Amino acid sequence: MTAPAHSPAPPCSICGKPSDPRLRPFCSRRCADVDLNRWLGEVYVVPGDDPAAAASGPPDGDDEDF
Ligand SMILES: [Zn+2]
Repeated sequence: MTAPAHSPAPPCSICGKPSDPRLRPFCSRRCADVDLNRWLGEVYVVPGDDPAAAASGPPDGDDEDF
């Protein structure tokens, strides 16, 4: 019998990227959250930047002289 020392990780079930051994079968917390939301019956969350995070950013200090 041949026992591989490092078994190949299955691809992420959400986006298909190589999964993280600590987050199998997902590649990231984001994909894990997406799958979790599916199980919870929540609205599908598209992986990407959260618009709320961008909206709550620091004000743009771009003052112009008028
Ligand atoms: Zn993924």
